[in-house]
Parts: sequence; structure tokens; C-alpha cells
Amino acid sequence: MNKKLTGIPVSEGIAAGPVHIFRPYILHYEEKRIEQVQTEEELHRFRDAEKKACTELDGLIGRVKLNAPDKVAIFEAQKMLLTDEEVIAEIEEAIAGDRKCAEWAANSVYAEFAELLAASADPLIQERAADMNDVARRLLRCLAGAEDVTLATMDSPAVVVAEDLLPSDTVVMDRRNVLGLITEKGGTTSHTAILARSFSLPAVCGAAGAMDALASAQTVVLDAVNGAILADPEKDVLAEYREKRERLLRRQELEREYLYRTVTMKDGEHVDVELNIGSAKNSELKLASCADGVGLFRTEFLYMNSAELPNEETQFQAYKKILQAFAGKPVVIRTLDVGGDKVLPSLPLPKEENPFLGCRALRLCLQKPELFQTQLRALLRASVYGELWIMFPMVGSLDDIRAAKKAVALAGETLRKQGAAFDPHIRLGAMVEIPALALIAGRVAREVDFVSVGTNDLCQYLMAADRMNAAVTPYYQSFHPAMLSILQQVADAFRAAGKPFCICGEMGGEPAFVLALLGMGFRRLSMSPSRVAAVKRLIASVDRAEAETIAEKALELETADEVEAYLRAELSRLCGAE
Ligand code: PEP
Ligand code: MG
Repeated sequence: MNKKLTGIPVSEGIAAGPVHIFRPYILHYEEKRIEQVQTEEELHRFRDAEKKACTELDGLIGRVKLNAPDKVAIFEAQKMLLTDEEVIAEIEEAIAGDRKCAEWAANSVYAEFAELLAASADPLIQERAADMNDVARRLLRCLAGAEDVTLATMDSPAVVVAEDLLPSDTVVMDRRNVLGLITEKGGTTSHTAILARSFSLPAVCGAAGAMDALASAQTVVLDAVNGAILADPEKDVLAEYREKRERLLRRQELEREYLYRTVTMKDGEHVDVELNIGSAKNSELKLASCADGVGLFRTEFLYMNSAELPNEETQFQAYKKILQAFAGKPVVIRTLDVGGDKVLPSLPLPKEENPFLGCRALRLCLQKPELFQTQLRALLRASVYGELWIMFPMVGSLDDIRAAKKAVALAGETLRKQGAAFDPHIRLGAMVEIPALALIAGRVAREVDFVSVGTNDLCQYLMAADRMNAAVTPYYQSFHPAMLSILQQVADAFRAAGKPFCICGEMGGEPAFVLALLGMGFRRLSMSPSRVAAVKRLIASVDRAEAETIAEKALELETADEVEAYLRAELSRLCGAE
């Protein structure tokens, strides 16, 4: 009997092999006060642990030099943090002066420094906070006398299964021995996902229950195309997946050739291929040259990772950096989209019965003018560094659009009074996520400069199926004929108005669906970087008339399964089978 687990496929690929369960040491300690007479002993304990942590880091640096030489700097920086005299002096003072036990002293001092770093205006310094936490964990483990469980010691090829993976876990792993990754936590933008894509390792995240359901050495098939995990597969299933894997590798090889090409449809019509980006990290910005711009820059990362709301300057620096990286190409920056599933440590919000139907995204920003104005001022100031388009999420009516535009005008007025420069012709647009907005697309087109369809939310609202709830996945039908017909309405209205209309939800990076989108008239698609090559390949394989016929036919079909099967068959016909 095949046991089947599911998760989110975050890095495309197929792998089969034995499981390697990765269960790192879990920190736990008590915050104890010590007696005066114990201080010397406690100081010794701390110094011994610090020495052990140093030795470990030296060993780690040696291994990283072999496995990932470009990451050595991270651990050298961690060693500097560990041996920093100021930090050591503070910990010793917390032990000797405040009589804290070594664990408590070390943890509180490191936490304080990490908080300071996280609050810095410089994103590079902010990232050091994660290193500080990594160092603290190492030190606390050494204080407990526990050994380091690492992925560096895997001595034969296996599929790694973990609750979650930290940068320090993945960087030491010997990639030759890692066939794929399965984590219980995380999603498309988690660290594991980003790393897996950069190493081209098949990975599935959000596979709830995987740690209990699987055991080390058990054989598993990891299908990171469909998000399926099969334990103890029968021989014929295994053979089927091996074949599928071969086909996939051949397709990926073909697609890679397209990544850096500027493609047109077969009849020469240009299609803008843009990127969805979730941070201002250099690893994301380095892809600027393979895209026509940024179709969706999610600004939430600025707010999610720190205990305080980011100030205007911090935001300005991040927006400026991305505009400069994409010099001259349009960069669509979305205003804060929190609420729903995204909670902010720095902004406690009242609990709602139905958060996805509640006060999220633009609704929240309009209720909190100071929060919104800070972001808008930062965006306007950054506008002089590139071609900025500002986009509002969760828009349901013209009232919302008008209120958002008024807020932008107010931010502009404030800056004018301060004498700060900004581009007065920034394009303002709305996301089409609430079906109501699509149904009045003609009126919306008179009110905004552009729209971009967020198919992830549009689908959940159109189908009344929570995108986070695995129990209703069968009802969340992105290929539903109603999705096609509502998208056609948006395309028709905006084409008639001569204004840009884009897709920035996941379906914009799904080649089979893109085939229908091209036929409906969409010529701007924004997607996660890992989808670019496949979508470009499709664009280059079809001409306008053919795509139009395919879209027309798809619009006549009756069920989501029929639409999907038809579009996939057409995709295979045009681009060759998987
Ligand atoms: C969407 O809803 O399609 C979208 C792009 O936004 P997010 O996934 O961030 O909600
Ligand atoms: Mg959305």
C-alpha cells in the first residue's frame, strides 16, 4: 500500500531514494539566578562553551569551503560575532553582575544585539540578526553539552525530511548526497524553497505530518511537480516515476536555454515577462537581466521580520535598491498586504472570525493612515530612482481606489512641503483579487493606470475556497471556467481602454494556463523566477491566432478538469511532452 502525503511543490523536480530524517537539537533551558559563590564556575562554563562553539565553527568553515565556498563569509562573520569582545564582556557582566546563569546571560545579550541589528536601516545589517540568533543557539547547545546534529554528516544519497531548515543547516549539507528536501513548515518563499531552487533540488514544503509518517531509510518518491510524497512505492510506481523524472530533466534542459532570452510569440508579438519578488536581497535582484521588470514586489518582508514597524528611511532604502537594480524597467511595488494569514509581530490586530474576508491589505492601510502614509512617502521618495508603479491589494470598489489615490496625493503634499523630490507621474494601479472589481473592470479602467490580477486570491474569493485550507483544495479550482471568463472580462475592458493589464498570481507562471491568457490578450505576465524559463519557452512556441483559438475553446468547456486537461494537452502539442 502506498502512503501518500502532500505539500507545496516549491522547487520543481522528482527524486526517489531513502529517507534521512533530520531532527536537530531542541533548545531548552531554565532562566536561573546563581549564588555569588557560583559566579567563577559559571564564567568558566561560559568560556568553555564559547571555546567549543569556536572549534565547531572552525570545522564548519572548513566543510563549507568544500561544499559552498561562496557561503564561507557567513560563518566567518558568525565567528566574529561569537568572539566579539563587547558581546563577551556583556555576557560576563550579566553572569557576574546580574547573577544570571550562563544560558540566560548569553541568550539575553544575544537577543538584545539581534534586536539592535534587526532595527537597522541597512538591510545587510538587518540580515546579521539571523546570524546572531544562529550563534546564540550554537552557544546554548554547547552549554548543554549536546552534540551538533548536522546535514554535513550524511554519507549516502537520501531525501532529507525535516520540520524546517535553517540557513546553517542547509549550507553545510553535502549536496551530492541530498536527493531532495521535504519540510513540514514553510512555503514558496521559505528559506528552504529559495535554497532548493538555487541548487535545483526537488523540494516540497508544508508537508504536514511528514516527520511522523516517514522513517529514516524508508524508500520515498518525492514528486515536487505535483507536491506528492509516496512512501514505500511499489516497483511499478517507482519505475513510472523514474521515467517521469527523465522526461522532466529533458524538459528542464530545454527550458534553461530560454531563461536569458528576450522572447516573442511566433508571429513576433512581444510579451512582457516580469518577476514576482519578495525581498530586496541580492539573490533575488540578480535576475533583473532575464526579465522585463518586476510585476509584483511584495513589501511584507519589511514588516514581517522585525519587532518594530519599519520606518520611512528603512523602506525608502529597500525600494530605492530594487528600482536601481531594475534600472529603467517598470517595477510594480505593492503596498502593504497583511491581515488574513499574514500577521505582523509589530502590529497586533484584533482576532477576526473570517480574516480573509476581514480587515486586510488596503482596508487595513486605510484604517491606519499613519502606517499607510509612511509607506507611501517612502515609495514616492524612491520613485526618482527608476520607473515605479504603485499597486494596491484587496481592492473591491471605486471607493477603495479613490481613497487610495487620495492617500497618495496626501503623501505627495507632505513631501512637497518638506522639499523632497519625487516623480509626479507614478502609475497607480489596483490588484484584481475581489471578483466584484473584475465585474466592473470597464469603470475601473477609467479610474486607474493599470491592473494586475492576483489569481491566488481571486480564485479563493471566486470559488469560496480558503487557499490555506488543505481540506478544500479540491474546491480551489484555478482552471475553473469561471476563472477564465472573469479574466476575459478584465482583458477586454483594459484592452478597450488602452491601459496595461497584467497577471501576477501563481497562474501567470503556469504554462498551460498562460496559453489561455495569451489567447485572451494578456501581454504582461509576472511570475516567480523559477517559472520564467518554462513560460518563455511556451511564448516562443505559439502564435497569436493559435492562442486565441485555444482560449476560445477553453472558454466553452464545462469543468475545471476539462479545461486543465485540454490546456495541458495543447501545451504538450506545442512544446513537446514533459
Ligand atoms: C494573489 O493573490 O494572487 C497575489 C499575487 O497576492 P498574494 O499571493 O501575495 O496574496
Ligand atoms: Mg493576494
